[in-house]
Formats: sequence, structure tokens, C-alpha cells
Amino acid sequence: MLDIRWKAGLFVCALSVIGLFLWLITSATTALIVFSLGLLIYLISHIYWLHKLNSWFQAPEIKGIPEGSGMWEDVFTTLLQYERNNKLNQTQLNSALEQFSLVTRAMPDGLVILSASNEIEWCTPNAESQLGLNLITDKNLPVVNLIRDSNFISYLYNEIYSEPFKLRSWRNPDIVLEIQLLPFANKQKLLISRDMTQHEKVDVMRRDFIANVSHELRTPLTVVGGFLETLNDMEGAVPDNLKSYFAMMEEQTIRMRRIIEDLLTLSTIESNTENPEDSEIDMPSLLKSVQNDAIGLSQTLHKTKHNIHLDVDRRLNISGASDELRSVFTNLVSNAIRYTPAGDKSTGKKGEVFISWALRNGEAVFSVRDTGIGIEQKHIDRLTERFYRVDRSRSRETGGTGLGLSIVKHILIRHQAKLEITSELGVGSTFSAVFPKARIVIKKASA
Ligand code: ADP
Repeated sequence: MLDIRWKAGLFVCALSVIGLFLWLITSATTALIVFSLGLLIYLISHIYWLHKLNSWFQAPEIKGIPEGSGMWEDVFTTLLQYERNNKLNQTQLNSALEQFSLVTRAMPDGLVILSASNEIEWCTPNAESQLGLNLITDKNLPVVNLIRDSNFISYLYNEIYSEPFKLRSWRNPDIVLEIQLLPFANKQKLLISRDMTQHEKVDVMRRDFIANVSHELRTPLTVVGGFLETLNDMEGAVPDNLKSYFAMMEEQTIRMRRIIEDLLTLSTIESNTENPEDSEIDMPSLLKSVQNDAIGLSQTLHKTKHNIHLDVDRRLNISGASDELRSVFTNLVSNAIRYTPAGDKSTGKKGEVFISWALRNGEAVFSVRDTGIGIEQKHIDRLTERFYRVDRSRSRETGGTGLGLSIVKHILIRHQAKLEITSELGVGSTFSAVFPKARIVIKKASA
């Protein structure tokens, strides 16, 4: 088939040849008239097909594409092919969209697409019902105008989305949602909401059960412990050959009481959804007293003392619940003492514990480094699980309950802080509590 340019050129050439021929056999005037008439007809035909094309654009139906003639036949054939492909792509796109819509409807989770400036671009029906949104009226509105929970707003703006966030529905507080934000593409965010109501109910039942059992056990244990102590103290009440058994019974009772106390502490912290108290904590004096307690513990456990160093940025305070945070620091420091041999007689080297409190990249970091037994890498992620212990007997011997780091983790979560652990087997460990900028209070230098 001839190329469209050839077709146009061929007509003009043929017309020129006819014109020349007429010039030769008749006159120049006749040739010019015929040539001009030919060009006029050619022009009129182009105008006609242009008009047809323009009319088609007014109502672009695939059936209405004219057939055309000459070079216009090619133009309309190409247009027909283009329209057919277009139609096919459109059908494929529609079916993909239909599939996508069916999949998102079938998903139990809700999905919301947020723009770079946190406006709602799109959401699924599940997200509408879970979060009380309406895509028609709420499209392009800032999400914070619609989800007004202050914790959600700080989660959104803090831009730390590694952990999901728990949101209690403001319309029905019995509904608990887990919200996860995932940044994608051009600073947009995907918000995934998951209904955790059932899961939360089971969790509450578990927590209540543990709290109730612990409460129920606390009183009888106190009574047993009290009687054992009295019997041990009473002259001649315990025969000499049974004294060691009584001592063991007393020791185990004390251990059980410690476990119960820790279980109660953990369930109180876990079930407390209120924000922690927000008073400024005098960190230098708190850490000094933590250091003193550590010296006492080192003396009791190991008879010889560790070297316990304290390095504190005296201008740096934080806001939070003082009792809870004291328990975090004490737990971490006491672990360092318990899992660090006090000294090596052969080398004369003492066990070292370094406590530090300083600013690091805009965050406040409490850190405890020891030169103790260290922890194998494979255990590190599991240390904050309840009752997870690398060496059960060592934990027991040093008065451990296996709950210390779980308590630490939950208190830190309540303070939007995180626990970092690095360790090398046989070399030592570093446990750091990292507090966000929002909790930092810098003391003014006194005049
Ligand atoms: P425990 O009461 O058993 O110490 P924790 O929850 O405080 O329970 O700690 C969990 C486990 O983590 C401990 O049993 C121990 O194996 C390990 N661990 C904690 N701190 C240290 C440390 N500083 N050095 C080595 N191991 C540690």
C-alpha cells in the first residue's frame, strides 16, 4: 500500500503532468484552468473530509468513523485502529479496577489514601464505617479534621510509623482499631485500619485473669510468709534438722511474692490507657539514687562491689511519671549488676557498669553498659517477652522474675520511648531507653 505522503504527491504530480500535456497540445490558459480546477477539487475534498473528522470528534463513536477516500482512507483506518486499541485498554482497565474494588471490599481492613498534606484522597467502604468517613463529602478534607483523637494526630505528625497505633473509636468506645500508616510514592500515605475489638476483649480478659489470680494469691502467700518468718525467729520452734527446709520455704515464698508483685505491676501498666503523669523529673538526683541502690545490690549479691560509674548531663530533664521511670532505670541497672560478675580474681579485674544520661541526635538517652556475660544475638528480640530468660537458673539465683524487661518495655511505650539493646556474648551489653524530643526539658543555667 502507498504511503500517505506518496498518495498526496502522486495526485499533484498527475495533475502537473496533465497540465503540461494540455499546454503542449492546446494553450497555456487551458492548461492553467484545468490545473487550477484540479487543485480546487483536491482542496474541496480535503475540506470535506476535515469537516467529517471534526463532526466525528463531536460524537466520537467507533461505529461513526467515516471510511474516507484517498489519503483520508489511511487517516480514518489509523483512527479506527487507535480507537479499537483504546477501547480494549479501557475495558482491561475497567476490569482491573473492578477486581481491585472487589478485593478492597472483601478485605476486613479499611484503607485510606492520604495526600502528602494528609488530605483524604480515597478510602474503602470498610474504612468509611470503621473511621466514620464518607468519601463523597470528606474527599480532599484534612484527615485530622475527621479523626480528631489527639494521640492519632501526634502519631501522624511524629512520622514514626514502625509500630501500629491503637485507636478507640470516639463514636463507640467499645470499638478498638489498630491504625498503621505506610508512606508511599510522592509522600502520600496509606492508612490501614484494623478492627481489634475482639482481640482487645480477649486481651482484657487475659489481663483481668492474671490480675485476679495474682490478687487472690497475694494474701495467702503473705500469711504463709509471715508464719514462716515468725517460726524461723522463734527460739526452738523449728527443730535444727528442719531449719534448712524452713529457710528454703521462706526463700521460695519471697520469690513467689516478687513474681506476683511484678505480675500485678505489669497488668496495672498494661491496662492503664491514660497518658502517664507529665511532671518534670529531676534526672540527676533520680539517677544518683538509682546508682546508690545499685551499689547496695552489688554488695548484697556479690559481696564485692562492682565499679558503678555515673555520667549525667545535668541540664537534661524529662517529663513523665517519675515512679514508673524510676522502675525502668532501676530494672536496667539491677540487670547490669546481676548479669555482670563483680570481679575476676585471677586477673583482679572488676565488673564495670556505666550509667549515662545524655542528648543524642535530639533525643534523650538513658544508657546502661556493662562488662558482663552478654547475650547471644538470637535472644535479643525476645528479651522483653514475659518470662523469657536466657539462663533460667542465673535469673533465679539473682532474684529475677523474668518480668523486668516486659515492665520496662510497657512503661517506655507509655512514654513514647523505645528500648535499644546491643550485646556481645562474653563482652557485655548496653540497654538504652530513648526518649523523644517532646519529653525533653532543658534546665536553664542558674545565674
Ligand atoms: P530477669 O528477672 O530474669 O532478669 P528480665 O526481664 O529483667 O528478667 O530480663 C530477661 C532476660 O534478659 C534475663 O533473664 C537475662 O537472661 C537477660 N538479660 C537482661 N539484662 C541483661 C544483661 N545486662 N546482661 C545479660 N543478660 C541480660
